[in-house]
This record gives sequence, structure tokens and C-alpha cells, in this order.
Amino acid sequence: MPKLEDLLKILKENRSATNGKAPAFVYLRRKSEYDLDMIKLAYDFAAEAHKNQKRKSGEPYITHPLQVTITLAEMGLGQPTIVAALLHDVPEDTSYSLVDIEKNFGSEVSKLVTGITKLGIIKYRGMEKYAENLRKMFVSMAQDIRIVLIKMADRLHNLKTLAALPKEKQERIAKESLEIYAPIANRLGMGQVKGELEDLAFPYVYPDDYKWMTSKILPKIESKMESIQKVIKVVKKELSNEKIKVISIHGRQKRLYSLYQKLKKPHYDGDASKIYDLVALRIIVPDIGSCYQALGIIHKDWQPLPGRVKDYISHPKPNGYRSLHSTVFGPKGKIVEFQIRTEEMHQQAEYGIAAHWHYKETSKKNQKLDAPGYTLPKKQNWIQDLVNWQKDVIDNQQYLKSLTIDVFHNRIFVFTPNGDVIDLPEDATPVDFAYHVHSWIGDHCSGTKVNNRIATLDTALKNGDVVEIITDKNRKGPSRDWLKFVKTGAAKSKIKNSAQKY
Ligand code: MN
Repeated sequence: MPKLEDLLKILKENRSATNGKAPAFVYLRRKSEYDLDMIKLAYDFAAEAHKNQKRKSGEPYITHPLQVTITLAEMGLGQPTIVAALLHDVPEDTSYSLVDIEKNFGSEVSKLVTGITKLGIIKYRGMEKYAENLRKMFVSMAQDIRIVLIKMADRLHNLKTLAALPKEKQERIAKESLEIYAPIANRLGMGQVKGELEDLAFPYVYPDDYKWMTSKILPKIESKMESIQKVIKVVKKELSNEKIKVISIHGRQKRLYSLYQKLKKPHYDGDASKIYDLVALRIIVPDIGSCYQALGIIHKDWQPLPGRVKDYISHPKPNGYRSLHSTVFGPKGKIVEFQIRTEEMHQQAEYGIAAHWHYKETSKKNQKLDAPGYTLPKKQNWIQDLVNWQKDVIDNQQYLKSLTIDVFHNRIFVFTPNGDVIDLPEDATPVDFAYHVHSWIGDHCSGTKVNNRIATLDTALKNGDVVEIITDKNRKGPSRDWLKFVKTGAAKSKIKNSAQKY
């Protein structure tokens, strides 16, 4: 069971995630200022709020937000994210509200918690609709990527404790992790989170294949891991002879689920011996020049396989991944894949978008980590990427059209009471919403509740509002006055048409 002291220790040491697997070079060289008293206060607040609750596993509930926060502390996130993560389940599950959080911890923290709570509103009613809703929300929330990061850490811990849940829930949560969360993590360049999500979900979604992988394929990987130790020694010596400074050199084994995906392809047909990167040799060097030099030295000694040299430094992958890859006939003719990168590239590959905070901060000393309004380098690019990716996935022409009109500045996302997400232009009103849901609802709309409170029909809706329309079936059609405030073309034309009908 995690303890508050574990979290405080990580924050004090500014320790980064190594998960005991990667070597200790992955230190975020960041000196972040944490207000530990405030963090203790947030912990006490959450512990008090959840005091009568238990996880399905029987553990006290507070162990969950605490573990989620530890994950984020290991990623190197700053004070507001840490506090918000401790509080992330408070408004949803306890008698304390967002107002209480804002009063005690300020508006920035409460905004982050609000974002998490909103993602939680989305209800599951069939994978397809649900996936679409969730993706839309992720994109709209990506304005503040910290919310997505908290949600990812939350999901990781829920997957780790999945065994305690009933079978149906296990399958559903595991499946949505594979189909929604992992692709988003991948799109954000978070290799470590993506891999972990997939490997945790794998046994629940494909139990038989998982057994086959662990009994038949895993032993092969493990024996390769052992044999690569000798290659590491040879390479180390060779590089030091040529005066190349090496920060780290280690074997990395391919993640089980991603290997499984590869094996399923017709070309491999379940034959692991055709896969060259079961185990890869990863070399971390201080700078880009050394990457190319190291590659040259390796190629001088061992012949590369044709077509297997990949320069992701000159041509990064769309998610920002950079490295040099090459597969060579190594010592004794054994085929070995190399991955060569700098420490910064490694951070980027493991933590993706989360790593940006760190590098931005080291370059601008006075920029407060996690400060409000903090913008990521190339923010526009990756948001655009995420949107483009979303387009590919959803493949819904109508929706695409609305999405390409500058989503983030002119569109808002609001909910139906059932948790469906409706996207509307900025300042759209409940009447626009009503017509978006159904013409009949628009025509017979007599009142509205926004976030459970009675509101007027001309209220300007805000991102994340839950909108309920009260209808009156005896109503004689829409009012022409509505034309004065509706924002969508669809509502305007329907009001005009209906006025003639009734
Ligand atoms: Mn949670």
C-alpha cells in the first residue's frame, strides 16, 4: 500500500520514473518547487472526504488517489497537478464539492479537478458511441494537457487493481483502455504509459492469447535478454575505444502486447523468430552528433540489414519520436536491433507530452512549472495532430466539417444528462442545443436546466455544461424571438420552417 511519505520523498528528491526497469539515468534534471505543507493538506482533505470508502479490493479508498499522484510525481509534474490528483475523485464520490475544493485550494486546482470530473460524466452505452464521446472530450480537454495526464495515471492504477472487479467490468475497462486510452497516450508520444496500459489490459481482453504469449513467447524474449548482455559488453568497449561518451547502454525488451500485435500480422504469422526487435539494444549518448558517430561505428563492425536503417532524428515520427534505428548482423552473425538517442529524445519517447514541461522549464529558468496559462512548445502542432488523428478515427464527414472550423477557439462541448457530448459553436444557447439533439425537442422546448439549475433559453453555454431541455408537448412550435439569440444555422432555419408548420 502506498503511503504519503512515499509521495513526499519523490517530491523532495525530484526523482523521476524509472519503475525499477530503466536505468537510473532518467533523472528529470528539474528543481521544482513544491509546497509540501499544501500537499499534505490536500492529502488530509482527500483522506477525510473518502474516509468511509473502500476500493473494491478492500483497501482504503485514499490509496487510489495517492497512487495516481505518485505516478504523476514520478513523471515530474508540478504542484497544481499533484494537488489536483490527490483530490481527483472527491467531487464525484464524496459529500465535498468543487466549491469546497476551490475555496481550499484555489481556482487552478479546482479547474483541473473539474476537467477530470467531466471526463467521468461520460457514460458507457455501447463502445462505438462511447469511444466517440470520450475522444471528443479528450480533444476538448487537451487545452489543458494536465487533465489528460491525470486521467491517464488514474486509468493506470484502475487497471492495476482490476482483479477485484466483476468480470464484465474488467472486460469493459480493459477494452476501452486498449481502444481509447492507449492510442491517445501514443498520439501524445507517451510510450511508457501506452505500453503499460496495453500490457495491463491485454490479459483481460484476450486471455487465451495472453496465456500463449506468456508461455511460448516470453521465454524466448528472456533468453534473448540474457544473450544480449554479451553484445552490450562488446559495444561498450568499441564505443569507448572511439572516444564516444555513453550515458547508458541497456537491453530493452519489446512489450508483450505490441509484440502480440506484430505477431498477428500475416507476414509474421505467429512466428517470433521473424521479429528482430524482440530485444533491442538501446544506447543513450550526450548529443545528436554522437548518435550518428555511434551508428557509424556499429555499421563499421557489423553489417546492417538492408532497408532497416531508420533515421527518426531527421524524420521524427508524427508523435515526436526521435531516435536512430538499425538492425545489424551482430557478433556471431546474430541479428541485433540498435536504438540510438540522446537523453532528451529518450525522455520524449517515454513521457512524450509530459516531458515538455521539464525541457521548457530548464530553458526558461523563471517560468514557474505548471504555471497557469502555461503553454507547451509547439502546442499548436500537437493539438492539430490530435485533431487530425481524431479525424482518421471517427471518419464522420459531418463531424469533421465542424471540427476543422478551429475547434478550440470557436467550439464548445456540452453534455446531455445522459453523458452524450454535443459540440456547438461558442456562446450557443440551450435552444441551439435542443435543435441539435432533435427538431421536435427544439420545437417543443419550454425551459432548460444548465448544470441542474433552471436557466433562461438565451443563456450562453460554456464548455462542459450539462444541459437538460424541458419540453411541453402542447407547445405550438418555436418562438420567433429565439431567432434573436440562437447561434447555429441549423436552429435558425428550423425555427423559420417550424413557424410556418404550427
Ligand atoms: Mn480515480
